[in-house]
Amino acid sequence: MTPKTIAIIGAGPVGSYTAFLLSKQGFQVHLYDSKKTSQIGSPIQCTGLLTSEIKKFIPLKKEFLINTLSQLQVFSPNQNRITINKTEYLVNRKKFDQFILNLAIKKGTKFHPEHKLVEIQEKDAQTTLIFQHNSKKKTLSPDIIIGADGPNSLLYKYLNPFKKKQLFVGLQATIKGKFNPHTYQTFFGQHISPDFFAWLVPESKTKARIGVVSSENPLPYFNNHLKHLNIKPKDILEKQGGLIPLFDPKSKTKSKNIFVIGDAASHVKATTLGGILPGFKAAVNLTNHLTNQPPAFKNHQNLKRHLLIRKTLDKFSDRDYNKLINLTSQPQLQKILETHSRENPKKLLQKLLLKEPRLLSFSKYLF
Ligand SMILES: Cc1cc2nc3c(=O)[nH]c(=O)nc-3n(C[C@H](O)[C@H](O)[C@H](O)COP(=O)(O)OP(=O)(O)OC[C@H]3O[C@@H](n4cnc5c(N)ncnc54)[C@H](O)[C@@H]3O)c2cc1C
Repeated sequence: MTPKTIAIIGAGPVGSYTAFLLSKQGFQVHLYDSKKTSQIGSPIQCTGLLTSEIKKFIPLKKEFLINTLSQLQVFSPNQNRITINKTEYLVNRKKFDQFILNLAIKKGTKFHPEHKLVEIQEKDAQTTLIFQHNSKKKTLSPDIIIGADGPNSLLYKYLNPFKKKQLFVGLQATIKGKFNPHTYQTFFGQHISPDFFAWLVPESKTKARIGVVSSENPLPYFNNHLKHLNIKPKDILEKQGGLIPLFDPKSKTKSKNIFVIGDAASHVKATTLGGILPGFKAAVNLTNHLTNQPPAFKNHQNLKRHLLIRKTLDKFSDRDYNKLINLTSQPQLQKILETHSRENPKKLLQKLLLKEPRLLSFSKYLF
């Protein structure tokens, strides 16, 4: 039997990883991106922080790994802090994305740069994709279509014509200064960001990425963050920004031969807004689906739990954050935070609640 042809739109990390997995399974995979090959992964719109779970998916290579972090400090609005010993990895997104694209190409994926998907047509039960390529239009009717075309996905809009995706705006800068190279920091509070948080992630002793994410215009919060960290505009080396979708369990992510995945499907943890690992898990599950195997990850359930935590945090006042940081500063709770990954929020929450039932007081915000 001829292997099915698959068109994947978007050579971001999730599209390329899906292409790699499906090529390995013998499918004829065609990967399309509107960018030139050299532009894949740029402009950088990501901090590039990954938990150690990344090693389940790809080997950590020197060519894209910038720094290994060993400690997280979480600051409450009243400037108390907890320190959690945890290993996390910082990657250069351009090099990371290019690495995964090359993995896919080596496994047989045919890459088509400078192909922008501009229209999707449905005729006689057949789906046709229309691409813009060098001022010409190209049409294509593959057996399977996978949209990994990022937060503004055209394929997501096609599957959900009446749904508006909730998008947050992240603003980030690379700055020079003096930093503890292995400690990254997160900051909470109404003045930091009314609905999310701000961060400082060191690349080295002299360079760091700082940023803030918010549902509102993040610029005033970003400027406030700079001031708070005593960073002068002359210390900014580069500014970056990007959209981050909020997970919506009710949105449609498949229909007949069309699937959406990654940021296109809002596969993003609503707590930390990390999207690379949930996107990779979705890629594995989709590959299993297309090869008649059961899902390997409970991705949807996990993302729903992150969303539930987000809905609780949305109602937090500064006093609540102060109380939360205070309660979790107990050594037994810190141990739990150190030994359990945020990738599995159910287990983490169960352990924390068992040790500190006062944390249950925050559940009032669920109702
Ligand atoms: C400020 C910021 C910080 C972040 N920090 C982290 C972090 O530390 N850790 C983490 O895990 N996640 C982080 N994220 C989220 C992470 O960047 C995304 O979840 C991730 O990039 C999703 O990958 P993707 O492949 O689904 O989509 P994308 O990376 O958006 O890739 C989509 C690809 O599709 C292509 N494309 C789009 N439309 C079309 C079209 N019509 N035709 C053809 N090609 C098209 C684009 O050119 C692009 O190459 C951050 C995001 C932001 C904004």
